[in-house]
Amino acid sequence: VIALTPARGAAFDAAVIGGGVMGCTAALYLARAGLRVVLFERRFLCAEASGVNAGTLSMQHAPSAELVPFALKARELWRDAPQWLGTDMRYRQLGGLVLAFSDDEAARLKAKMDVRRDAGVPIEYISGARARELEPALSAHPVLASWCPLDGDCYPVLTGGAYRRALAEAGVDVREAVKVGRVAKDGAHFVIEAGADGAVVRAARLLIAAGAWAPQVLASFGLGIDMTYKVNQMVVTERLAPTVTRNLGVADGNLSLKQAINGTVLIGGGWDGRADPATGMTEVMVENVVPNLRLACHAVPALRDARIQRIWIGVRDHSADLLPLIGPLPGVDGAFIVSCVREGYTTGPCVGRVIAEVMQDREPDFPLYDPARLIGPDRPKGLRPESAASLALVAAQAQANTPTPTQIYTSHGANA
Ligand SMILES: Cc1cc2nc3c(=O)[nH]c(=O)nc-3n(C[C@H](O)[C@H](O)[C@H](O)COP(=O)(O)OP(=O)(O)OC[C@H]3O[C@@H](n4cnc5c(N)ncnc54)[C@H](O)[C@@H]3O)c2cc1C
Repeated sequence: VIALTPARGAAFDAAVIGGGVMGCTAALYLARAGLRVVLFERRFLCAEASGVNAGTLSMQHAPSAELVPFALKARELWRDAPQWLGTDMRYRQLGGLVLAFSDDEAARLKAKMDVRRDAGVPIEYISGARARELEPALSAHPVLASWCPLDGDCYPVLTGGAYRRALAEAGVDVREAVKVGRVAKDGAHFVIEAGADGAVVRAARLLIAAGAWAPQVLASFGLGIDMTYKVNQMVVTERLAPTVTRNLGVADGNLSLKQAINGTVLIGGGWDGRADPATGMTEVMVENVVPNLRLACHAVPALRDARIQRIWIGVRDHSADLLPLIGPLPGVDGAFIVSCVREGYTTGPCVGRVIAEVMQDREPDFPLYDPARLIGPDRPKGLRPESAASLALVAAQAQANTPTPTQIYTSHGANA
């Protein structure tokens, strides 16, 4: 059922720039709707954030109450991946605990979770003792926790392969190791220069799903975007005997922790590393590994004896107002963008479907986030690292004290 009439001379009905979870899902559903789709990925499918994330599917970390419906729906989609994606993504419904280590933190945790509870997430407040029953690995430090039985995870390293198979089956022309350079509008269709030889592809509709690199693609249209990139590091322990059975987070500060299927424990939570998305350079910031691990050991003392196996770096995109951009590109008829969806792995399969519907002129059941509010010719151009100002906004939105790494280190790390 094709809602579009392809422009004359267009080889494709739709072109997608970016093979992360957003671009891949959108391409899959456009193709399944009968459109001829080409997808460009400068590296390989899900090489960036969509493959190197922690795989945590947390309803409690939904960045805002408005995104809760996306998270709830996408959780079901990851669970049911064998049906629609053709791959078992090793989904686990572990249940998630977010820990408060003091009465002040408990109050802030409740304020944050009340909003998500009102938006439909089943969240219960439990005592520290009850939390330890649910997760025996916990220390005696938590005084209160929020508990969501729906939280869980899946295995992100499988994501690229899963989409590659599904996209091939759906007939999408997937072009990996092909970077899109210039894009122009020529009459009713887009002219896309892709790859080192600058080969040209034409398409009637365009989706920009380029993650942290979206500013480079927008430059073709003379547009800027009020977004920054943020660099996160993930710490992975050696394989341990079964130790942690739930997703763990903390009310104040940055910790996400869980034990993977293979026994390794993934420890992260938003601690900065260094990266230059323009060149691909990455560098671990050891000064941020130490407090991250201290906080982890404060929550789960058994980790004190664990050895670190490796640390990796990933780049994510943050909008100036922390809300996503999902919808039409302002001033460029036929172009669309998905960008800056925080916790975008959790919500990706839902967001990708929504934008695919919009691109077919259908009315989605989920809200759009008008890109025009942050994209325009006068907005900042180029790749920009996260500023102190936007970090402060993250903290404010979390309704917590602005927990700098140093504060976390001293408030929890000293006891660890
Ligand atoms: C370390 C880390 C941990 C995270 N943990 C979690 C988590 O536990 N749970 C959760 O929900 N979220 C998590 N996230 C966030 C989540 O991974 C992202 O929100 C999500 O993957 C974004 O998907 P995307 O498709 O928008 O972007 P990406 O996955 O970054 O995909 C964009 C793609 O576009 C390609 N591209 C860019 N420019 C071009 C071009 N010119 N031509 C061709 N291709 C191009 C890139 O190579 C890239 O592959 C984490 C992120 C990081 C970095």
